[in-house]
Amino acid sequence: MKNTAKDIIKYLINGNNKYVNEHEQEFFEKLKDAQSPSVTLVTCSDARVQTSIFGIETTDELFVIRNIGNQVLSNFGSIDYGIYHLKTPILLILGHTHCGAIKAGMSNYINESFDIIKELNHLAIPLKMVKINNNDDQESIWIKAVEQNVDYQIRLALTKYSELVKQGNLTIIGMLDDFLNIYKKDEGRVIISNINGENNKKKLMNHKLFENLSEELKNKYFINW
Ligand SMILES: [Zn+2]
Repeated sequence: MKNTAKDIIKYLINGNNKYVNEHEQEFFEKLKDAQSPSVTLVTCSDARVQTSIFGIETTDELFVIRNIGNQVLSNFGSIDYGIYHLKTPILLILGHTHCGAIKAGMSNYINESFDIIKELNHLAIPLKMVKINNNDDQESIWIKAVEQNVDYQIRLALTKYSELVKQGNLTIIGMLDDFLNIYKKDEGRVIISNINGENNKKKLMNHKLFENLSEELKNKYFINW
């Protein structure tokens, strides 16, 4: 797709024309009155992370908030809208392998624009909490930081929504989009890393949320920390 602006626009318009032709009026009829998403999704702006990873028609299913580093603090207004107004039963924080925001947050980013610095500064707390072992290489520190950040964003979300969680009206889930297969569970698989603040693998796997999943499937979605 990458080329001149003129080529990109042509590509987008042709794509939209194809989309229009492929969707019947019935599809849009359902969207007429209001939105009714099931999930408030906070994810990174990284172009490699897309809602198509869920393999479902995501129109009207996902209320999506995106920023660098899948952060909640800078977008609590939008998240509030998804939770208080649209009443989605799930708040999903989706991080991903090789997150550039996390890498930048771990390096010296003083030469970035003021607004980039401001957003990256919010990552300082989770990045300080990463436990580094002597034999950790850069790759494992990076992925630990991605996990830590998702855990931290969930902790922040719980400061606002813990009452809804307690009442059973909201579940906050952390996932990692592993398009690089860092976790050796296949490229593109999401790894479930946190539920309502809990990140212990055994407890996660036995969580009642996954009662309907086979053991075989469960083994593909959780990793040993
Ligand atoms: Zn990212």
